[in-house]
Amino acid sequence: MPEKLPEKIFREDGLRLDGRTPDQLRDLRIEIGVLKTADGSAMVCHGKNRIIAGAYGPREVHPRHLAQSDTGILQVQYRMSTFSVGERKSPAPGRREKEISMVVQRALEPVLFLEQYPNSTIDIFIQVMTADGGTRCASITAAALALADMGIPMRDLVTGVAVGKINGKPILDLSDKEDKWEEGAADMPVAVMMNEKKITLLQLDGQVSMEEYEQMLNMALEGAKKIYEMQKEALRKKYNSELVGR
Ligand code: ADP
Repeated sequence: MPEKLPEKIFREDGLRLDGRTPDQLRDLRIEIGVLKTADGSAMVCHGKNRIIAGAYGPREVHPRHLAQSDTGILQVQYRMSTFSVGERKSPAPGRREKEISMVVQRALEPVLFLEQYPNSTIDIFIQVMTADGGTRCASITAAALALADMGIPMRDLVTGVAVGKINGKPILDLSDKEDKWEEGAADMPVAVMMNEKKITLLQLDGQVSMEEYEQMLNMALEGAKKIYEMQKEALRKKYNSELVGR
């Protein structure tokens, strides 16, 4: 059943409905190497989002006509499972999933050296097991880690986080309820190469003043910094456990 939207989005004490301060991220848990069948994989549990990314390649492109003789390509498939949201989602990929697949692909391409793999593809499959707002951002965070787990050279990681505005107040990392709030609302998913200080995704839904935009972007970058540290820590943990297991 779809959840009913609450009447208020901030509590009497000014905190958000889940008790977070405006600039607080939801809980984040990251696990690397969760799929034995993939060349690289990661699971990101961000708030109530549960997302798994599996990466394969570089390998021969199928269908062959997609192959490019001067460069490799990155192909991304983002899918929401039928049980990922309150109302059963149709298993057929919709327009939204195709758009998010493309958005995630574009956000990740800049960290790869695709020119080193002519005629080849790197494939990423993303499965959203449960969704609770900000899945494209959490998918980017997970997919970047799956690529890193594959062990191919990368310029940097990519970190995704959404920032928004409700009733004129900027808030970090919107939940589904916050995302669906309409009164004075805006939503801005951002993906960043933290080390290279480059933005690889910036979408804005809603209206904001220039001042609000700057405030929101700064809030997103602060949030991304924290997620980036956790991404690196998760990779370190996996790498160290592999060294111990040798
Ligand atoms: P994102 O997940 O990146 O925020 P959207 O803004 O399109 O992307 O979606 C916001 C949220 O709406 C999702 O995270 C999910 O919780 C919910 N949602 C998306 N698609 C559906 C759907 N088909 N049915 C119900 N809820 C959905």
